[in-house]
Amino acid sequence: MAKNLTILGATGTIGVNTLDVVARNPEKFRVIALTGQNQIDKLAQQCRQFQPRYAVVLEPDKANALQTLLAGTATEVLAGMEALEFVCALPEVDTVMAAIVGAAGLRPALAAARAGKRVLLANKETLVMAGRFFMEAVREHGAILLPIDSEHNAIFQSLPANYDGDPARHGVRRILLTASGGPFRTRAVETLEAVTPEEAVAHPNWVMGKKISVDSASMMNKGLEVIEAHWLFNARPEQIEVVIHPQSIVHSMVEYLDGSVLAQLSNPDMRTPIAHSLAYPERVEAGVNWLDLAKLGTLTFEAPDFARFPCLKLAYQALATGGAATAILNAANEVAVAAFLDRHIPYLGIAASLENVLGRLTGLPAGSLEDLMAADAAARREAQMWVDRESRVARR
Ligand code: NDP
Ligand code: MG
Repeated sequence: MAKNLTILGATGTIGVNTLDVVARNPEKFRVIALTGQNQIDKLAQQCRQFQPRYAVVLEPDKANALQTLLAGTATEVLAGMEALEFVCALPEVDTVMAAIVGAAGLRPALAAARAGKRVLLANKETLVMAGRFFMEAVREHGAILLPIDSEHNAIFQSLPANYDGDPARHGVRRILLTASGGPFRTRAVETLEAVTPEEAVAHPNWVMGKKISVDSASMMNKGLEVIEAHWLFNARPEQIEVVIHPQSIVHSMVEYLDGSVLAQLSNPDMRTPIAHSLAYPERVEAGVNWLDLAKLGTLTFEAPDFARFPCLKLAYQALATGGAATAILNAANEVAVAAFLDRHIPYLGIAASLENVLGRLTGLPAGSLEDLMAADAAARREAQMWVDRESRVARR
């Protein structure tokens, strides 16, 4: 029987790769709803090709534009956050690909979990912001959570099939999270001040959205992934070790008490984890190039340098602090990365602003989802104030 899909963030990198896998397996998957934000022409083209029942955007004027483009088709256009939540909870939908970028992805992902869907989670910010509440919703409503992030998908595949979130019971000693090291792994540290947005988004191995590309350059992405792994697999921070692996072939590993290390390998192509989760527990064609190990020759590994990548250290610290700290880290990072991409602050300003915001906002309550939303908003305000101050100083 075909699986019925809602794809949140269909116009993004993950969304497009998801539709590519769907198109290769038309008998296995049917698209019920697609969502986008600014790329209305692209969303309209996707709707023509995949004929979903619903297309959703956040803003009403974008919805009107989309409506015009889709006139005469069977796709109904909806607008707003409630509409995003609605298409995640539709009775005919069994699988939701959560691939919106940033904190905006939290509410729809939560709606999918609360509706007991199979949630294919690309939006790592959901777990970084509200890991405890999201995992509770998954458990309470019998949702099935499958990680799309390539590292977490690799860990999922390297854990026992009956893994129940208890590392000790399954003999799991450590999770080894691989990182490419991004474009600045070997660049002279004293030249990092002069990094441009173009250099930061030019990832050596992966083609990704701008925000996650900058996060990969700063290794904040790996920091967010440490937090993500903590919630997904119930591993303690000290059980999660980051190892730099510049070739991005080994996507992560699980080390067991007997010394065994299990890994998942593939070419760096997001269609592999996407196809894995779409079809799980089956396997489907994903269109990826087969791995030619002899041609690759050498796979290398090295320890990360916290001085070069202060954002990684800040993420470990926020995880150790707990409470609202990771939500604060995530929100401040979104503001700082946007400011860097707009050339308002230098690259090194990202880590500096995070340190500042984390230092100022300590001990905020984290007892409810509303608390975390409030912490997110406070962190955005603080980070924006820092950015405004810095860009004023820079202009002088
Ligand atoms: P993109 O920036 O390429 O795509 C983001 C998608 O979300 C687009 O469809 C965009 O719409 C939509 N969107 C953006 N802002 C909003 C908003 N406020 N409300 C609703 N929709 C919005 O990102 P990626 O595809 O690269 O990443 C998506 C998620 O997956 C991120 O959380 C990222 O961390 C994660 N991820 C991505 C990986 C990758 O290889 N790309 C790997 C692992 C995880 P539009 O484009 O129409 O404006
Ligand atoms: Mg990743």
